[in-house]
Amino acid sequence: RIVYVNGEWLPESEAKVSVFDRGFLFADAVYEVTAVIGGKLIDYAGHAARLKRSLGELRIPSPTDPDSLLEIHREIVARNNLDEGLIYLQISRGPADRDFAFPKNPAPTIVLFTQAKAILANPKVETGISVITIPDLRWARRDIKTVQLLYPSIAKMEAMRRNADDAWLVEDGFITEASSANAHIVTTEGKLVTRSLSSAILHGITRASVLDLARSVGVTVEERAFTPEEAKNAAEAFITSASSFVMPVTRIDDGPVGDGLPGPVTQRLRAAYIEDRLSGAI
Ligand code: PMP
Repeated sequence: RIVYVNGEWLPESEAKVSVFDRGFLFADAVYEVTAVIGGKLIDYAGHAARLKRSLGELRIPSPTDPDSLLEIHREIVARNNLDEGLIYLQISRGPADRDFAFPKNPAPTIVLFTQAKAILANPKVETGISVITIPDLRWARRDIKTVQLLYPSIAKMEAMRRNADDAWLVEDGFITEASSANAHIVTTEGKLVTRSLSSAILHGITRASVLDLARSVGVTVEERAFTPEEAKNAAEAFITSASSFVMPVTRIDDGPVGDGLPGPVTQRLRAAYIEDRLSGAI
């Protein structure tokens, strides 16, 4: 792969970041993942806006302007002949002598690479995924998309150890979100229930688009917290993320959700998201 590091295009084997980089030493970095379908960027404006917000919340100066950032995204797709997959972008506060205090004149590090992946033809769409529920032990600013991903990795490993695909995280008795996606349920009355935005969850770009689409096709959306019990008794469940779009959840803690098959509202929203976002891809 050809990767982008601080203004340079390099084969991945030649790309380097300092051992003093604060992203490496302190997880002092933010990231974005943007889906690519047919060589085009999905929901790019949302990802660019959230990146700006994450940087602002952490006072990391942006190493690029919006036009160049879009240009870099386009160029990395072209240089890697990426048809379908993901673009990973990370911006750290950059290298500095190790000190908890931020450096006075940071020189942020920006890195982008691509990952080829079948998003549309993901076989899990047919069966849905299984999730376990486990405590949410992440820090309290989950609205900032930082690279502090150790707990989500542990959660995913625990899910795999228990023969499940992913984990839904629970705090104060309510589901926050999945390890790397937003969590949603559909009630037996056909209402979409999803946690409202706060610092308890990442403000998913796919979540926002799917909620808009749900409302536009007449699905009632209730933004509120729900418990693992409510999820287990729901008609349908699903997750949203840039890497999975809308993915049915058909088992929670070893029991089926509804009839244990991907539900009609979930499938309708997945189809609507794909149709709408592909036509808006840039
Ligand atoms: N929540 C968490 C914790 C995530 O890591 C992600 C994806 N990175 C999401 C939600 C989904 O966000 P998006 O739809 O913007 O990919």
